[in-house]
Amino acid sequence: MARKMLIAGNWKMNGLLADGAALAKGVAEEVKKMGKPQCEFLVCPPFTLLTTIKKALRGSKVALGAQDCHIAEKGAHTGDISPVMLKDCGCQYVILGHSERRADHGESSELVNAKAQAAYGQGLKAIICVGETLAERDAGKALDVCTRQILDSVPESATWQNTVIAYEPVWAIGTGKVPTTKDVEEVHAAIRKTLAKKLGKGNANRMRILYGGSVKPNNAKELLGLEDVDGALIGGASLKVEDFINIAKNSGAC
Ligand code: PEP
Repeated sequence: MARKMLIAGNWKMNGLLADGAALAKGVAEEVKKMGKPQCEFLVCPPFTLLTTIKKALRGSKVALGAQDCHIAEKGAHTGDISPVMLKDCGCQYVILGHSERRADHGESSELVNAKAQAAYGQGLKAIICVGETLAERDAGKALDVCTRQILDSVPESATWQNTVIAYEPVWAIGTGKVPTTKDVEEVHAAIRKTLAKKLGKGNANRMRILYGGSVKPNNAKELLGLEDVDGALIGGASLKVEDFINIAKNSGAC
């Protein structure tokens, strides 16, 4: 069963009202020019821009996502945003367990698992991120670390429809460094094998596994052409319309 490639932009803590709207409109216009693209497009701006970007994307094929959510629907959680609120803003996706949240906010895989379940409860699709640090890769533990994170972060109720996995080696994020294609293939294959054990082959074969970490127009073909790579989670290069769109075009799959 063919998996539809997902080209997702993680804007992180970037963008104000005017430039965020311009970026989203630029992406929407370029996607429109592509006619009937074979891949899906998604942008994940910061919370403050969600409603503005929703308006900017009106009528386009570009989906809207957020970068995190709380496990509760509402209540006394100062500074947090619930999946109900994300749904209310028009989100279809939410990124969970990004390495920056795991590092900056001490998020555990168990918490990521609970957040994913809360997201499913509102009909949101979870993009669950996993990935090893440089020290873990150098110690030969990349596969073990990613396998453990998948086992603990992905809920039993995950399906290919409600979940996307993103493999993002921590040392490749924002550094310009990328793993070898052999290493990417090896981790993606291991992730799919682990998903098959946990969720059954039917789900594992159809669930999308994105690669993230310094994806640029000039390495998109090589990375996104790999067997088990079903799209990209893109940070820095998602902040420029041209780069984001050229990643999709150069992938050869859109
Ligand atoms: C990310 O933060 O998800 C990411 C992959 O960032 P970058 O593309 O900038 O490495």
